This record gives sequence, C-alpha cells and structure tokens, in this order.
Amino acid sequence: MQSTVTPTHCPYCALQCGMNLTPAPDGTVEVSERTDFPVNRGALCGKGRTAAAVLAPGVRLTSPLVRDEGGALVPASWDEALDRIAAGLGRTRAEHGPDAVGVFGGGGLTNEKAYTLGKFARVVLGTSQIDYNGRFCMSSAAAAGIKAFGLDRGLPFPLEDIPKSGCVILVGSNLAETMPPSLRFFTELKENGGTLIVIDPRRTKTAEQADLHLAPRPGTDLALALGLLHLVIAEGRVDEEYVRERTAGWEDARAAAMAHWPEYVERITGVSVPQLRETVRLFCEPESAMVLTARGPEQQSKGTDTVGAWINLCLATGRAGRPLSGYGCLTGQGNGQGGREHGQKADQLPGYRKLDDPAARAHVAGVWGVDPDSLPGPGRSAYELLDALGTDIRSLLLMASNPVVSAPRAAHIEERIRSLDFLAVCDVVLSETAVLADVVLPVTQWAEETGTTTNLEGRVLLRRRAISPPEGIRSDLEVLHELAARLGVEKGFPTDPEEVFEELRRASAGGAADYSGITYRRLAEENGVFWPCPAEAEVETPGEDAGARPGGEAPAVHPGTPRLFLDRFATPDGRARFVPVSHRATAEEPDEEYPVLLTTGRVVAQYQSGAQTRRVAELNSAAPGPFVELHPRLAARLGAAEGDPVAVVSRRGRAVAPARITNAIRPDTVFMPFHWPGEGRANTLTNPALDPTSRMPEFKACAVRLETVER
Ligand code: SF4
Repeated sequence: MQSTVTPTHCPYCALQCGMNLTPAPDGTVEVSERTDFPVNRGALCGKGRTAAAVLAPGVRLTSPLVRDEGGALVPASWDEALDRIAAGLGRTRAEHGPDAVGVFGGGGLTNEKAYTLGKFARVVLGTSQIDYNGRFCMSSAAAAGIKAFGLDRGLPFPLEDIPKSGCVILVGSNLAETMPPSLRFFTELKENGGTLIVIDPRRTKTAEQADLHLAPRPGTDLALALGLLHLVIAEGRVDEEYVRERTAGWEDARAAAMAHWPEYVERITGVSVPQLRETVRLFCEPESAMVLTARGPEQQSKGTDTVGAWINLCLATGRAGRPLSGYGCLTGQGNGQGGREHGQKADQLPGYRKLDDPAARAHVAGVWGVDPDSLPGPGRSAYELLDALGTDIRSLLLMASNPVVSAPRAAHIEERIRSLDFLAVCDVVLSETAVLADVVLPVTQWAEETGTTTNLEGRVLLRRRAISPPEGIRSDLEVLHELAARLGVEKGFPTDPEEVFEELRRASAGGAADYSGITYRRLAEENGVFWPCPAEAEVETPGEDAGARPGGEAPAVHPGTPRLFLDRFATPDGRARFVPVSHRATAEEPDEEYPVLLTTGRVVAQYQSGAQTRRVAELNSAAPGPFVELHPRLAARLGAAEGDPVAVVSRRGRAVAPARITNAIRPDTVFMPFHWPGEGRANTLTNPALDPTSRMPEFKACAVRLETVER
C-alpha cells in the first residue's frame, strides 16, 4: 500500500469536491481537507467525509457471485463469472438478435468507463439498447440547453462567478442538503449585496437562506416562469437591444408569455402577484443575474419546456452569454455531465455527437476501426429500456446503477428485471438490483482507480488511485476487456484508463464536447480543465498549420473554456433561440380518489438510491429511514401524529413511512425522500410519464392519497 497523501475527488455528487486520501497502517483510508481545489476549498459534506467507509471489505463485495442451481448467489472465480456473462449475453444475441441485449450505465462512471461501455455496447454487442440513470437526473435541462444555446454544459460559467452576480434565482434545488459546500457561493452572493431567490414547494434548508422564497404548487413552475416573463414585458424590462442582436424567435415566445396573466399564474401556482412582481424587480434591477435549475423543474413530464421557460426569461432580460449572468443546470450525479458526453446515452456518440449524424458516425467509427454502417442507431431512453426488460430485451448488463430503488414505478421495474433471461451487474456493493442478478462482479472504487470525471461546471478532473484494491477486485475497464475478448473482440478495449482517455480525446475531437486538448498531465498540473478544449488553440494567422510552425515552435495550448457564449451561442448563426412554451398540467393531477400531490427528493446524509451511503454507520444513524413530510393541517385531517406510520398510495402502489409534520411544506403536498428500498420506497409511487423531448420521468409530481396504518 502506498503511504503518501493523494489528492483526488469525492465519489458522490457533481460538485466533485477535492479531498486528500492517506492510507493508514491498519488498512483504512483517511479522508482529509484539500484546500487547493477552488470548488470546495477543503469543505466536505458528511457523505464525502465518510466515503472511505465503503472501501472496507466487510461493507463491499470482494468476490464474484454466481447463482447456483438452488437459486442462491454463491462466490465464484472470475473466469467462471465472466464466462457465464459472455455465454448469457451471447446466447440472447444469437437467439433474439443484438437489440435483445440491453446495457444500462450510471452517472457515477468515470468518462473512461462511460466511453468504453458505449463502445462495448455498439461494437461488441451491436446493440442500440443502451442508456443510463443520468437520464433521470438532468436530461430535460440538457434538451432545453441544446434547443436554446446549441450546447448543453451544466453551468456555462464557474461556480466562483455566482457571488459576483447581482441576483440568483434557484429553481427546485435544495443544495444545502444535496451539495452543502456549494452553499457558500450563495452566502457570499448575499454578503456582496446580491439577492438569492429560491423557488421550491418546501421551505428547505436552502429556502431558509433566501431573501425571497416562492413556494409554488409542484409541477407549476413552467407557469411561474411565464408569469414572470409576462411581467417583464408589461413593465418594459425587456433588453430590446440584446434580444435584437443575440437572439431569434422572440415574437412567438413573447406571445406565449402574454397569454399568462399574473392573476392567472397566481391561480395556477399559488404564488401571489406581489411576490411575482417582487421577483421581477429583484431579478431585473441589478446589472447581472442568473437562473439555476435542478431536479425540481427538470423531473417533470414537461421538464424541457419548463427549463425552456426559465431560459426565455434569461434571454428576454439579456441575462445569458454575458459576464456574471446566465442560465445553468446544477447537475446531480458525480459524473452526470461527462456521462452524457461520451456515449452511454441512447442517442449519443463520444464528444456529444449525435448517433444519427452520418459525419459523427464516420468520425467515431474511424477512431474505433469499424465500418460506420455497423454502428446501431439510437435506442430507447432509460425508463423505456427498463420497461422493455423481459419482453424485447431479454438480457441486461448493468453497471453502477440501482434501478430497483431509483427508477420510477419501481415495483413494476423490479418485476421487469426479475423477468429477464439473464442479468449481470457490476457494482461495489450488493445493491437491491445486484441481488437479483445471475452474476455479480465486484469492481474497484474511486480511491482504487484513476480516471476522469466532469463536474457540474464542465471542469474535467483527474481522480487518482490512492490505494490498491483488495485481492479479487477488478476494474470495470478490465471487466469490459475480458468480456469483449470472450465475445470475439480481442482489441480495442484497453484496461489502462489513460490509454482509454487518449482514445476518447481523438473520438471527441471536433465534437461539441471536445476533450482533445486535455491530457492527464494537464489535469494534474492545472487542477482541472473546462471543455471545450480542442487540441490546439486557434492561431493568429488564418490558415496557419499550428502543428507545423516554422522553427519547430510548439503549437499553442488551448486554455479550456470556463465561460461559454460570451461572444456567440453555439447555434449555426450564433444567436440563442427563444422556444415558445405554454403552461400545461402535470401528467397526473389530484382528483377525488388521489387528492394530494407527492414530490420526492433527497436528504443530506444519503445519496441517490443509498446503495453506498446506507452502508455507512454515521450516515445511517443521521438518516436511518424514509419519512412522509406533511403539513399540520393535512396531518390533522388524516388523524396522524408525529411518527405515526402513514400509507401513501398512488395508482402504481403503496408505501408506508413515519409522518414528519412540519409547516415547511404546502398543505396540498407531501414529500418523501427516495433513498430507501422496501416498504418505504418512494419510487413505488412515482409516475413514469415521460417528457416528450428528454424522456425524463415525472419524479416531482404525482397524485396520491394518504391513509393511516394500524401497527
Ligand atoms: Fe462529495 Fe458532493 Fe458532499 Fe462534495 S458535496 S463532499 S462532492 S457528496
């Protein structure tokens, strides 16, 4: 075991906080402050601080597992486990065709793994059926960003710009619990005289920090944004010159907004007209302002339009592509950003290229050494893929995801997974999904492997290996290498992450997410590089070949792009696009039978499906189980007291959890965190209604009824 301090990054959320790891003589690893990384400057939340606990042999998987004839998962050799997977996937492919084999990835995979998984699916398996759980995370913001700006990068500016802006509207983000170290940017914003406006149906810990908190009914923030734009127009606050010079499509968006009178918006959202007017004043008066969205507006069956409405507000007021102003999405998962750039998404090839673009196919096929015509086309989105398990899709290879807990309509998805002919799972722990597998492979974790991630700012980062994995553990790259060989592809699946990254650089060159100018060495020396970063900077003399300059002068190094769109947007004509959008109801409005709205989210001590964090004693004692948050008036109507078990029933199922009674939530809404399996699984209830563009399910609003439970 090495004994030095290794600077690296947290395995969990998209903030990707810097941390130092030091191996201790007893085999454990100490996590300590790393102050040189500007995003967190040494601060860590409890999840990051305790992340090393999951490295312990008693917590994690240490041997491959295969299902024996009696139906039990039992330890097996790597050769037996890999042979079984190759046979299982190969059999399905031979009997039912390549698209009967599915691949499901995760937003926690490094860029190298996400890239290799996408290549494995398309080159080795020949299947179009690959997607990943990042689809559940930010795909509506990605779709809206591409429509408006021609490019999707979570934040188009570094987090350090936030404190210098005049006003930030934070829509549907509880970052005080989801990424606590980021709260300081907003505290500094206020200390500098800026204003923080938080929009959330709950008075969250983040909302408590706000100068103004608006609590709309879940699923109505599209109407809210339209009402604000209506007032901007009515009060003469449109930046006409900016709209004329830097945008297109204003007239249609303007007409759509004018149909949303403030009083009408008040009736839909529950936010009063004076609050709407105050929001417009606070947003428009400073020289600069930002809108940041997270899962609240995005995880809706109209998420793309909802984010589009917030972008329209930014464009009409000249708050995009200007210093200290802009729209950004606070991506959630550790590599949610990079994971959607390099090919594990159903419709994408590396470099954020589109799978249905002939030029993109030719470029990537050239790098991969295959015929472009051999690459399959776009496949199903995450929920649609999971919903097809056991029917069109007979076998599944799943990496770093736990859909039994995290997918909407989870009982149905669990049933679909159980109906597969064959399931193989690569994970660090025996998750609720892994326990259903025919073969489970134990893989290395963040502290045991090198690789890159891309944080919510678009900053590509180097995670470094600090310790050796325990005996019997292999990396995901080694797994894919071995499986490719067993399925007849001997070359093209290296196990060295840097070798994979070098290929990823070539595959991404010229794409929207161009990493070709980024090297491991630069990442180590520069503490991260923002994409796009082409291999060479533009030279001053047009037409000059930067790679072959007179006198052997080295080509210019591109510095990376911390701030996007300052000169032009990434559309063909450089103008941002307004997208005309109108309010519409959620897919499932409350009615007599299901009169209450359910919204879901996270708590500070748990992460996503909880597969890792539920295994950490300190986190588990801080957040031991699910709960139903409800208003005292609703609790009184139900006859429930604090801690009483409450059943929440939707058209998809029933979940039971203790009541947590608080004035911090609207009386027409209940909230459940989604980190737990079993009786209190929130996703048993959620609605898989999909956004027509992003295919994002509607996690944030569905109709439920409450019942008391006798115990
Ligand atoms: Fe890790 Fe996110 Fe916590 Fe930072 S905020 S320590 S990245 S979980």
